[in-house]
Amino acid sequence: MYVDSHCHLSFPDLIGRVDAIRADMAAAGVQRALVICTTLEEFDTVHGLALAHDNFWCTAGVHPDTEGLAEPDVDGLCALAARPRVVGIGETGLDYYRLNGRSVAEMAWQRDRFAVHMEAARRMALPLVIHTRSASDDTVAMLRSAQAAAGGALTGVFHCFTETAEVARAALDLGFLISFSGILTFRSAQALRDVAAFVPLERCLIETDSPYLAPVPHRGKTNTPALVPHVAAELARVKGLPPDAVAAATTANFNRLFRLPQPAVAGAATGAATAAGSA
Ligand SMILES: [Zn+2]
Ligand SMILES: [Zn+2]
Repeated sequence: MYVDSHCHLSFPDLIGRVDAIRADMAAAGVQRALVICTTLEEFDTVHGLALAHDNFWCTAGVHPDTEGLAEPDVDGLCALAARPRVVGIGETGLDYYRLNGRSVAEMAWQRDRFAVHMEAARRMALPLVIHTRSASDDTVAMLRSAQAAAGGALTGVFHCFTETAEVARAALDLGFLISFSGILTFRSAQALRDVAAFVPLERCLIETDSPYLAPVPHRGKTNTPALVPHVAAELARVKGLPPDAVAAATTANFNRLFRLPQPAVAGAATGAATAAGSA
């Protein structure tokens, strides 16, 4: 059984066909999914999915690329995070990929927003879902100092990992998990496969980041959580392990990080999810 640790079911490509996606997930053995929040405006939709389906959970946060919408503060994020089925803070982090002519110094607002999320995570004792792109030095440095200030209490996952082995090492040293997406299956991603080979299995998660980044052999199509087994299969190939071992480990890692009950019996959990889905 698989878990998709990061998907955007609230996005226009997916929100209109959640029932079909859930049927595809069940057929593919994808047991659980974490629905990720990227704006305060979409929180109610994301949260509604988690409330409506007993195998969905969600996060609260504002993506670093979000501009021109409501800005989160610590109290507001904590209030959202206290609601049922909210199990993480994010996605948050730093993204200097699209500076649109600005300097890194001019992105202080993004670092301020990241700091707000880290403080909310500390206060609520929830894991962070970290997005970092072209900004790994600042992301790691800010996490390191926030974690030191929090007495080591901050944890979380670097999602859709595409960074170097050095950044992976730093994330692991911080106690964070590393999540691999469909990028792992792309022909051009040998450097990332080398990183994945080195990250201990007990620190790995898998995700789709759907609707983006559909794994091979579906590359270029709209991605959904039902395709996460392709990511698991590639991670298994890279590590020389059976896909079942990767499925079991990444599922256990997910449940541990987000403090969800480990299903006692896979078959029983499937039955419960199916019953709830048809209710
Ligand atoms: Zn992201
Ligand atoms: Zn995302």
